[in-house]
Amino acid sequence: MTQHATALVWFRSDLRVDDNSALSAAMANHARVTAVYCATPGQWRRHGLSPNRVDFIRRNLACLAGELQQLRVPLELIVVEDFSALPAQLQGLSARLGVSAVYANREYGVDELARDDQVCAALAARDIAWHCFDDSPVLTPGSVRTQGGEPFKVFTPFKRRWLQLLANRPFACERTPRPQAGAIPVLSTFAGWRYPEATIDTAQWPAGEAAAHQRLQDFVENGLAGYKAQRDLPALDATSRLSPYLSLGVISVRRCLEAALAFNAGEWEGGNPGASCWINELIWREFYLHVLAAFPRVSRNRPFRAETEDVPWRADDQEFARWCAGRTGFPLVDAGMRQLVASGWMHNRVRMVTAMFLSKYLLHDWRRGEAFFMAHLVDGDLAANNGGWQWSASTGTDAAPYFRLLSPLRQAERFDPDADYIRRWVPELRDARTEDIFRPGSPSLLALGYPAPLVDLRVARERALAAFAKRAA
Ligand code: FAD
Repeated sequence: MTQHATALVWFRSDLRVDDNSALSAAMANHARVTAVYCATPGQWRRHGLSPNRVDFIRRNLACLAGELQQLRVPLELIVVEDFSALPAQLQGLSARLGVSAVYANREYGVDELARDDQVCAALAARDIAWHCFDDSPVLTPGSVRTQGGEPFKVFTPFKRRWLQLLANRPFACERTPRPQAGAIPVLSTFAGWRYPEATIDTAQWPAGEAAAHQRLQDFVENGLAGYKAQRDLPALDATSRLSPYLSLGVISVRRCLEAALAFNAGEWEGGNPGASCWINELIWREFYLHVLAAFPRVSRNRPFRAETEDVPWRADDQEFARWCAGRTGFPLVDAGMRQLVASGWMHNRVRMVTAMFLSKYLLHDWRRGEAFFMAHLVDGDLAANNGGWQWSASTGTDAAPYFRLLSPLRQAERFDPDADYIRRWVPELRDARTEDIFRPGSPSLLALGYPAPLVDLRVARERALAAFAKRAA
């Protein structure tokens, strides 16, 4: 690479200028850098991306254009239906700009990897170099292995090895590059693309790096110390709510870890329980990214555990519709589903309860639930969503044992003891007595127009155990 050659940086799920491996490398190695974003609405539809997430992409892209303008880097927008058009499009843009190299940060879904192979080949045909970085996880997928050289299938040993590797090779954040020389180019016009409108109040998810960093700072100052004690209580705003920003790369996971480690005097595991617990969650994110990269079948709609391929899932559209609408008659499940649809986000504890309710108590195929989440989440992310669903359905890596079902009643009593969360999202129960809320089907709830329970939990549990028992590991 010569300092004089021009480079192209292709932004994907890394919509930031801070601590961005591809952007930093391109700007360090090339005198002129142009950026490009490729919108592929047909592909997004096929991947089930929610309008809420696509709206978040659009708003963050506008912020990114502003950040890049400060660096005097113009941002081009390519709008095509799907990935298949990209090799020719990027080859054409590279030729028009006279670039010698294209830089990008890797995405790990099978379609995304295949897309990159095809783009790389099209560029190579024109002698254009392709530089791809592992930037979304802290450590390169494939580099964290068992002693036998295998990828980990269980979280705790993965975490142990991951921490060992980082102890020997600490990570560092890249600073935002310095502006390049030359006149400030005129921004491309954002003609945009067609996708259904967001269905939520988008103001609750302000776009841009500044908003993400502010959220991190607020959380570290006000929430991190109490995170371990409060993170499972959905009535409290006790988690970071950084997932939409992390999944779209508006902030890097390294920045999050850097802030947590600074708070925790450099300790990963001991020290403040809130900080080490939050770090643990960030390592779960890392684990599922590594699983996605190592086991492509999970992004092909297949269960991780092959023996669960033939679980006799039930198909009952009316039941499924009641789960989607938050009308199951189980208040914690209904509160979660209504939070999802109204806000594009759901508390982690309630994600587990709602997912397990669908896949175990109703015995519906987890893939239907996974797709419904994806169709509403602002943070919808293949690795984490698939990982969470397969955990709940006991079909995945390090999944919940098939016989351990989270009861939606006991979970509500334990984690929402005053039913504050339930009342917030299920307004017809606002004036119900707390003890009645924990007794679904009670006449006082039915009188409020709240539905009778969809299943008898004891019977449904036996049905799930029988369906899974033959396939138990
Ligand atoms: P915090 O508690 O503040 O955690 C910080 C960050 O750690 C999160 O932003 C996230 O990036 C990561 N993280 C935390 N828990 C997990 C986890 N269990 N798995 C992977 N990463 C984690 N997370 C998504 O980002 N996108 C999804 O589409 C998604 N779908 C899920 C589906 C199911 C069925 C389940 C059980 C979990 C899912 N999760 C998903 C994981 C988790 O629920 C969310 O990351 C978390 O609720 C986001 O809130 P937060 O940012 O306040 O998290």
